[in-house]
Amino acid sequence: MGAIPTTREALAIHGGVPVRETLLPYGKQSIDDDDVQAVVDVLRSDWMTTGPKVAEFEEAFAAWVGAKHAASFSSGTAALHGAAFAAGLKPGDEAITTPMTFAATANCVLYQGARPVFADVCIDTLNIDPAEIARRITSKTRAVLPVDYAGHPSEVSPILELADKHGLVVIEDASHALGGEYQRRRVGSIAHMTVFSFHPVKHLATGEGGMVTTDQPQLAEALRRFRNHGISSDARQRQSAGQWHYEMVLLGFNYRLTDIACALGLSQLTKLEANLERRREIAALYTEAFQKITGITSPSVRPDVNPAWHLYPIRIDPLHLRAKRVDVFSALRAENIGVNVHYIPVHLHPYYRSQFGYKGGEYPIAEASYEQLISLPMFHGMSNQDVEDVITAVDKVAGHFAA
Ligand SMILES: *Cc1c(COP(=O)(O)O)cnc(C)c1O
Repeated sequence: MGAIPTTREALAIHGGVPVRETLLPYGKQSIDDDDVQAVVDVLRSDWMTTGPKVAEFEEAFAAWVGAKHAASFSSGTAALHGAAFAAGLKPGDEAITTPMTFAATANCVLYQGARPVFADVCIDTLNIDPAEIARRITSKTRAVLPVDYAGHPSEVSPILELADKHGLVVIEDASHALGGEYQRRRVGSIAHMTVFSFHPVKHLATGEGGMVTTDQPQLAEALRRFRNHGISSDARQRQSAGQWHYEMVLLGFNYRLTDIACALGLSQLTKLEANLERRREIAALYTEAFQKITGITSPSVRPDVNPAWHLYPIRIDPLHLRAKRVDVFSALRAENIGVNVHYIPVHLHPYYRSQFGYKGGEYPIAEASYEQLISLPMFHGMSNQDVEDVITAVDKVAGHFAA
């Protein structure tokens, strides 16, 4: 007797029973009672913003990544803007970055009136290709902004060599890579400046928030002034020195991170090691399971890195599945797996097309990879059942579409 198909086996998108009853998001923060208490303690203190928690968080964060200085910002985007300013980017300059990122990485170059120049990515990691950077350096190039896509550190050593040779500043956008390691060093201790985001889907959450780490004191000073209207000392320093005088020495912004957020960040930092371990466990479970599923390719990992696993982007192999990315995506969503896509290549957004004349076809590796990518749920609070549900759903959907 042949097996009678059960409703369980029918795809949810075709009216079958979904693998999960409720949607599993692709990323999510974890907030414990001690995180809540840390925030409450600040609310009961004398300072809501620019108090003692700011310096405490910055010092603890710098020590954690192994950098000499850390300057906090009100978001990762503000931190990128600060880094682009501190790098000295100005109208007429160019900065080279990857199209495979969130638009903020390239936008920060535009905030400074400079021009973002894209360079295509490596086919395995989807990180910017140092050889492509080299091809695009001109007499106007001032900075390079590699992005640690999905949490896999960029090849910063050859990029730093190029920077040395051409006098460039390297700003690593490590919004995905807090806790990642490159050649046995933690991300945040390697590039001239490294930028982090504390958005709730990232490794450490403060609501909105960001940080720039650097070993260079003059960069740290420029970052601190830039985030505080270009003023050379903060209100707390003045109050403790009994002074009213201050000087605005450059045109800055109010990009300060509050004491409330910094207290939350300090509390979250104590759990970062455990959270990274859990993300690495989940990645290992996924990678093992997908080896047995035709048409699904796991992210590659180079031998000299330990990724931080912000995302787990699988690739859909068009040779082995009778489906497009959108079909697999919609089928997984119907199974209540909150898949996402990272990223629409930046140069293909309407703003970049209209400002710079991109038409598609300029960055073939990023563009072709984008067509195949689906980000699966990946966050440290996922239970083993959540992980199993994702694997079951991927197996069900890939099995359905198998060629
Ligand atoms: C999240 C993110 C940012 C921006 O961070 P916000 O804190 O949301 O402003 C920048 N670059 C990348 C690659 C990101 O993932």
